[in-house]
Amino acid sequence: MGAGLKNRGKTREDVDERRRAVEEATGTDLRHIGGKPIDPEAAEKNIENMIGTVQVPVGFVGPLDIKGDHAVGQFLIPMATTEGALLASVNRGCSVITASGGATSVVVKDEMVRAPVFRVRDTRHAVKAGEWVRDNLAVLKDVAEGTTRHGKLLSANPFVVGRSLFVRLAYSTGDAMGMNMATIASEAVAKVVEKETGAVLISVSGNLCVDKKPAAINSILGRGKIVLADATIPRVVLEEKMHTTPEAVAETCYRKCSIGSSLAASLGSNAHAANMLAALYIATGQDPAQVVEGSMVTTTCEVVDGDLYISVRLPCLEVGTVGGGTRLPCQAEALSMMGCVGEGKAWKLAEIAGAAVLAGELSTLCAQSAGHLGSAHSRLGR
Ligand code: NAP
Repeated sequence: MGAGLKNRGKTREDVDERRRAVEEATGTDLRHIGGKPIDPEAAEKNIENMIGTVQVPVGFVGPLDIKGDHAVGQFLIPMATTEGALLASVNRGCSVITASGGATSVVVKDEMVRAPVFRVRDTRHAVKAGEWVRDNLAVLKDVAEGTTRHGKLLSANPFVVGRSLFVRLAYSTGDAMGMNMATIASEAVAKVVEKETGAVLISVSGNLCVDKKPAAINSILGRGKIVLADATIPRVVLEEKMHTTPEAVAETCYRKCSIGSSLAASLGSNAHAANMLAALYIATGQDPAQVVEGSMVTTTCEVVDGDLYISVRLPCLEVGTVGGGTRLPCQAEALSMMGCVGEGKAWKLAEIAGAAVLAGELSTLCAQSAGHLGSAHSRLGR
């Protein structure tokens, strides 16, 4: 990786030198990120009443060594934010993980969910309609898959409350995040359910989906990709680079992420996973509102054989490498920095996101265990 990557300066010349170094290291042309205005027509499917663009500063963290099933190697990861100190912190986590032999990051489940709500006459009707849904998955699959080349209906599970019947429809959505795809397919499915059961569709989204709201059902079952990432940080690396110990970090994580989050009845038990996801989502054209459910991350730390073991479980990583905002020029350049443009790259992006969250969690837990959080923000962010 080139020397320009180490440039920490803040002038225009520094930024240009750093961007050239990233272009060289990643083989990516970053002309739009570098300031070339986008053609409004490029955004015609992404916004109405457009008046221009908002410039959010974008930088990179890394190199981060990742040993995933799809993301393998060292990555420079783009992040867009206005929070000073965030990239410095995540970068510190990347450096420690890379010096420790890298992070494992894997996708263990991938389903996008829509749950239409129907009005039924009474409990008997609801149960009968739910049975029809369960017995006719093959029919519903044909209907759903008639609306999309890449979407596949995986399951249809009924839930009943009084005169409301919800059908949770789970899809695999290829390399798209899949929310439009799942919604369009679900409308077609819902019409057939109405016709065959007499249930009346009230809304294609019945809030049991649950999109852009934090919810225990998705924290447990997952929505989008469930990603698991972990790393072991040798004691000596932690002491030298983070000025803390495995015991101090593990206790900070336990008392903060486990006990504090439990006391607060928080649906996420992590340090600040939403920070890494928001910055990565904005840089790469994901839907930033889905950081809401993305934030329900569980972070764990343990001392194992004297070293620090750290893990994150991301239950709702709703990301794609086609569709939505990924086709916009700056966002496509950011995806290209990681080799994550287009077909066959969604799981690679998800694994990189998991590892980036791990790096950010590690750095912040270390800073808090060493009592450095306030001073870092004061030095870098004010
Ligand atoms: P999309 O851009 O609406 O659809 C993806 C498109 O890419 C489809 O036309 C799909 O074709 C095509 N495609 C080509 N190659 C593909 C591949 N390898 N894998 C998957 N698809 C491929 O994107 P989306 O992910 O479904 O939806 C994302 C958008 O939904 C975002 O803009 C987000 O803000 C928005 N959103 C919508 C809702 C909603 O309720 N509608 C809710 C939240 C967010 P085929 O379908 O023929 O496969």
